[in-house]
Amino acid sequence: MSPIVYAIPVFLLSVLIEALIVSRVRKGAYDLADALGSLNFGVMSQLAGAGTKLLSFGIYVAVYHFARMATWPETSLAVGIVALVFYDFCYYWAHRMGHEVAVLWAAHVVHHSSEYFNLSTALRQTSTGALFGWIFYMPMAILGVSPTLFLIVGLIDLLYQYWVHTELIGRLGWLDRVLVTPSNHRVHHGQNDYCLDRNYGGILILWDRLFGTFVDERAEERILYGVRTPLRAYNPIWGNLHVYADLWRSSVQAHGIKSKLAVWLGPPGGGGKAPAPWDRNAFTRFGAKSSKGVRFYVVAQYAIGNLALVAFLIQAGVMSGVEALAWGALIAVGLLTQGVLLEGAAWARPAETARLVLVGVALAVAPRVMGSALAVPWRVTLILVAGLSLTVLWRLQSTPTTTPETVGLAR
Ligand SMILES: [Zn+2]
Ligand SMILES: [Zn+2]
Repeated sequence: MSPIVYAIPVFLLSVLIEALIVSRVRKGAYDLADALGSLNFGVMSQLAGAGTKLLSFGIYVAVYHFARMATWPETSLAVGIVALVFYDFCYYWAHRMGHEVAVLWAAHVVHHSSEYFNLSTALRQTSTGALFGWIFYMPMAILGVSPTLFLIVGLIDLLYQYWVHTELIGRLGWLDRVLVTPSNHRVHHGQNDYCLDRNYGGILILWDRLFGTFVDERAEERILYGVRTPLRAYNPIWGNLHVYADLWRSSVQAHGIKSKLAVWLGPPGGGGKAPAPWDRNAFTRFGAKSSKGVRFYVVAQYAIGNLALVAFLIQAGVMSGVEALAWGALIAVGLLTQGVLLEGAAWARPAETARLVLVGVALAVAPRVMGSALAVPWRVTLILVAGLSLTVLWRLQSTPTTTPETVGLAR
């Protein structure tokens, strides 16, 4: 079972507490739709990870077994610390290449697609990272870090990075120069000129100082978060695929194999061309066009979806491949319809209706629910929840009651 299951309640509670504090301190600094969008990306990435991690971790295990040059003992704390530093070093390069190579950026862009910066942004994770991410950790397998130790240090490195996604913690003195901290990670998420391609570290910012990619946060220049070619959507499926789609289009248009390859393996944004000068005054933040009622409906569906995700992750081991695919897809469709509801798309309500009917039918006729022979009273309760959701959905105001929050932020 994914250890992330245990972290989910901690994540959600801390996101909630931070949201309450931030909204009191600075109005407009927290956006419910954006945070929900981030959380949806997180759920999507866990769903995808349940399948793809098996592939990338499988490669690690195979390389460790057949090609390792040494064997590290697992029981010593010192060895564990060295392995963590080793992982962090590989992470630095995986992350840096994620920004410098177009096809890797296509996966990593998800994490940068929010124009806000808070704990929910940390959960905005890619669903396609397992495609190529494993390559950067092969030195660990070859040098003999056991798969178990690799998993443990990988989890520590990932969980460490959660707390650095906040504007609530200011400068931390010398720590900002040794560890990845909120201050230097804010820079990493900025689209200001001075922030681009800086501060890639996972736990240690020392790598950036060593390899020349470190820059200190500037108090006099407000950071505008996000990327210069913005997603402007809450749809987590499109959010995971849009850069791949751009690359595909560009590579079809490119002439000759060399230029086609350069599209995928060159720097993001079609390399060679001088980037357009950036005008911070032209930046407007993307905002939801959905009504308040729709947002709260999505919050409720998110809560239900999260329980479904936890059940999915717990049951992943006992479900057959077909069951996992079917139930995983059903949860994913919910993320999609919630995303388009937030965007205020015209087709969102019919799509959500179809999803709720599908969920009801699945609960009524599936021989097993996520690998378990769920008792009839449970099934009936869940079908009633879907029915109630449908009733609420059709009573929601269809016209937006809030204006898009395209706030000019330049100061
Ligand atoms: Zn990044
Ligand atoms: Zn980040």
